[in-house]
Amino acid sequence: MTMGSEDQNLPPHVLIFPLPIQGHVNSMLRLAELLCLAQLDITFIVSEFSHDRLLKHTTVASRFGIYPGFRFQNISDGLPDDHPRAGERVMDILSGTKNVTGPLFKQMMIEKNCFASATRRPVSCMIADGVLSFVGDFAEEKGISLIYFRTVAACSFWACFCIPELIEAGDIPVKGEGMDLLVKSVPGAEGFLRRRDLPGFCRVNDINESKLQVLKSETRQTPRAQAAILNTFEDLEGPILSQVRRYIPKLFTIGPSHSHLAARLEARNTKTTISSGSFWEEDRSCVAWLDSQPPKSVIYVSFGSITVVTREQLLEFWYGLVNSGQKFLWVMRPDSIKGKDGEDRIPAELEEGTKARGYMVGWAPQEEVLNHRAIGGFLTHSGWNSTLESIVTGVPMICWPYFADQMINSRFVSEIWKIGLDMKDTCDRVTIENMVRDLMVVRKDEFLKRADEMARLAKKAVSEGGSSYHHLDGLVEFITSTVS
Ligand code: UDP
Repeated sequence: MTMGSEDQNLPPHVLIFPLPIQGHVNSMLRLAELLCLAQLDITFIVSEFSHDRLLKHTTVASRFGIYPGFRFQNISDGLPDDHPRAGERVMDILSGTKNVTGPLFKQMMIEKNCFASATRRPVSCMIADGVLSFVGDFAEEKGISLIYFRTVAACSFWACFCIPELIEAGDIPVKGEGMDLLVKSVPGAEGFLRRRDLPGFCRVNDINESKLQVLKSETRQTPRAQAAILNTFEDLEGPILSQVRRYIPKLFTIGPSHSHLAARLEARNTKTTISSGSFWEEDRSCVAWLDSQPPKSVIYVSFGSITVVTREQLLEFWYGLVNSGQKFLWVMRPDSIKGKDGEDRIPAELEEGTKARGYMVGWAPQEEVLNHRAIGGFLTHSGWNSTLESIVTGVPMICWPYFADQMINSRFVSEIWKIGLDMKDTCDRVTIENMVRDLMVVRKDEFLKRADEMARLAKKAVSEGGSSYHHLDGLVEFITSTVS
């Protein structure tokens, strides 16, 4: 590519490109800020839809306004404005991105000379979401360094990496009676990983078939990048990371990225506000409500940005929570109920009944909520960001995975890290009631002790001398070496 500025004193210029989904954008924004702190120039590619949401509901504009080297660059996600981008249909973003965004990206990079200007070098390194193989194609074509960022856990990445072997062994497609059989072709996870714990797209149904193929090919192409980044830490997933490193030796584990960012900002005496990249408006009134509750008495209920539940499931959760006798703070996104006209609203009796025992919001400041002294447990869908946020704050979990990587995250939470319970594939009020009691009352001390220990390890990882701290420095060094 032609050089922009001749000034060799200019910092390296990195392009960051997430899949435009809340959890992916969130964790890559944190990485962007960490790299801004290392004085690198960043161009952050974001879909128009996500960018509008970010500007509307967050402080992202002012937050990144303090970094002169940071710029957003909008691009289409290939979907019409009124597309729901939730539930299973969120996966349409993958095809939209591949078919529409890919060609647009290539054209943009060529027309804009890799974002070179009088004050910026051309991009010499691209950090792309691991599912965007077209960025890899472009990097290879133009000889630009490429790093893939997988926003999932190492365990989930590794299981996806093993999909060809799982198919060969007959473990995939996952169906019917064999769901509880242990799988043998995910090295490092023998003895506890069942077919039912494999990423959701391994389950048999027509919709999943094409997604499984996409997942397989996108994951297997990761080693063509010069390096990869995972939002995890060595003490959490060491044995699995050793397996991944057999194929991707240059693997930077920099997580948990949100607490890493907080730690680096604190070390510079920068006033830390909890970083939020929410696509929805946060209702902060729940924090005042939490202030009035006793320590560790409230269970926080949230299923992330994509999950949708049926009206029946919603009522099972509600009765289970109410019957447990515990107070709860429940996030009910406006688009989170699956149903036809009139059935997709929160039932009035449920909203009314909640007032006595809990609090309901459309979207919460989650990191702050999990950090609140009143929170004693988290009923979660096991999204990777939520899982990490819970780990850092030492909050034990009840896992109700909805799809994708959540299926395997929840198994690790319950069986390996032993910081929660896995409620996978069940949704009835009695189970919910029992699990909430177990977590919040009966085995409370045991879970809190384990969760505290894991939180300590997470904080150690992102402190000076810790593994994630060290890996981030290595990543910056690597990026700097890509400047010619
Ligand atoms: N989140 C939030 N407020 C909420 C619910 C979720 O800020 O009320 C944030 C949460 O902190 C996390 C992200 O949304 O960073 C959800 O990402 P995750 O990977 O857990 O799940 P996904 O939404 O991708 O399924």
